[in-house]
Amino acid sequence: MRASQYFIPTLKEAPAEAEVPSHIYLIRGGFIRQLAAGLYEYLPLGFRVLKKIENIVRKHMDDAGALEVLLPILAPAELWQETGRWDVYGKELFRVEDRKGRFFALGPTHEETITDLVRKNIRSYKDLPKNFYQIQTKFRDEARPRYGLIRGREFIMKDAYSFDISEEMAVKSYEIMKEAYKKIFDELGLDYLMVEADVGAIGGKYSHEFVVKVPNGEAHIVFCDDCGYAANVEAAKYEFEVDKLPPEDEKPLEKVHTPGVSSVEDVSRFLDIDQKKIVKTLVYILDDGTSVAVLIRGDRELNETKLINYFKALDCHLASSEELKDLGIVEGFVGPIGIDIPVYADISVKDLHNFVVGANEEDYHYINVNIPRDFKPVDFVDFSTAREGDPCPVCKKPLKETTGLEVGHIFLLGTKYSEALKAYFVDKDGREKPIVMGCYGIGVSRLIAAAVEQSHDNNGIIWPESIAPFKLHILALNIKDNQIKTVAEDIYTKAKEKGIEVLFDDRDISPGAKFKDADLIGIPYRIVVGRGVKNGKVEIQVRKSGEKEEIDIDNVSLILDRINNGV
Ligand code: ATP
Ligand code: MG
Repeated sequence: MRASQYFIPTLKEAPAEAEVPSHIYLIRGGFIRQLAAGLYEYLPLGFRVLKKIENIVRKHMDDAGALEVLLPILAPAELWQETGRWDVYGKELFRVEDRKGRFFALGPTHEETITDLVRKNIRSYKDLPKNFYQIQTKFRDEARPRYGLIRGREFIMKDAYSFDISEEMAVKSYEIMKEAYKKIFDELGLDYLMVEADVGAIGGKYSHEFVVKVPNGEAHIVFCDDCGYAANVEAAKYEFEVDKLPPEDEKPLEKVHTPGVSSVEDVSRFLDIDQKKIVKTLVYILDDGTSVAVLIRGDRELNETKLINYFKALDCHLASSEELKDLGIVEGFVGPIGIDIPVYADISVKDLHNFVVGANEEDYHYINVNIPRDFKPVDFVDFSTAREGDPCPVCKKPLKETTGLEVGHIFLLGTKYSEALKAYFVDKDGREKPIVMGCYGIGVSRLIAAAVEQSHDNNGIIWPESIAPFKLHILALNIKDNQIKTVAEDIYTKAKEKGIEVLFDDRDISPGAKFKDADLIGIPYRIVVGRGVKNGKVEIQVRKSGEKEEIDIDNVSLILDRINNGV
């Protein structure tokens, strides 16, 4: 491809809203442009990367026996009503109305549609197992579309759905996908972790996320170097038994004056009591309007995902000052004793003795609180967010923490959708049973950003070879010089003949501008044709290592063969 005839609108500056390297460089490098919040256009370079990723995903899905289909983006509202998700999915679901007043969802995911296809076309155990996948545009009206391709409102996903006759067989399908995913992310050249994950709104039995390690990523992961355990902090079990305080004799309950002192830090300092013995009482309002009080030890953070899961809620929020007032609760001094709403406790509070809680009275706390003597929680639940240093749930060694970007998510769904949509099959024994499902997503467009997040420097992108838009970049430093032009053209022709994907910068611009663009675009190999041609030399450069080597023009063919073979 000749740069003079191509379209790579590089920019010196990134737009103000671009905060993360992938967003900045994909825009500056002329890979993508924004149409509106969360909507992106793929320009020719970006489109090439997208197609490469799609093809790697497709190859491994096909190898794993999954069958590619293409489902409509629009799904009738009635289908989503059958599973209840028309309501449950909330504001993220784009809804459109046709001319007759019928409503449709713009698919954010396709469990409903694929299960409808299966219920209408699969009857017998003989037709199973099946795994269908598609690579398609998805729509989600995200509350905060941001970071370019990382969180769009329209994005490209590979979604797959497995159908099996039993849970045992479904687990096999799940394992096959897990292995396929590892091959995909390996081939993409990414540094990733497979982590235990929360099942979230999709529901189901268990799930894993594939998370690319990046600084300041949205996914928070804890992992154990020792035994290999890794989990999203929302899903990691808190091993409180190991973290427990030693037992103490119960002291008499006492109400103490704590004027204006309400944060855990302040109470701990004021009373000179360890933060681990200051128990926070958080009042949450669930989406159905129910209020609950949740206790957690002062040094721990509550995880709202765990809370939502426990209460089978869709959403929750901390009660506002107004809401607390309506409940007759004194802000800043909330406590479990004498409160009118149900009290739940995080397991960090279990077996805790002589602790401190708010007294539900302005400027007062209770000290030496003990369970069950002073109050009794409805239940002890793991609501804690896992963090660095917590004991590993498997081997009890201290966990490490990192952040990342979720690029894939697999779920063993069970029969949630097949039962809701009556997708039954007739088993060998002649009985009708619900099909057991799994679903498997990969953020194809997010992967473009993930690769850049993981592989760039101060000058631009460094594409992994497997997804680079081109493999070779030829820079003719002065295209007006006949000798340079002839040599560069010749190398370009040879490279094409050898089937190398090559971009030829034949533009009549300064050498400095060519180098800047080349660094920004990040093509793995570069052949620079400049003044050296007078001495029969060109330079070969490797973007990743920065290596440079002068070679004889006569040896170019050999070098092209090496580039072709990826060495
Ligand atoms: P997140 O927690 O990041 O919102 P999710 O759990 O909603 O992700 P899934 O429903 O599992 O995501 O979707 C499958 C994959 O699609 C995700 O692993 C992610 O890589 C990608 N993805 C999800 N939402 C977006 C988005 N708004 N923009 C780009 N990619 C996305
Ligand atoms: Mg989401």
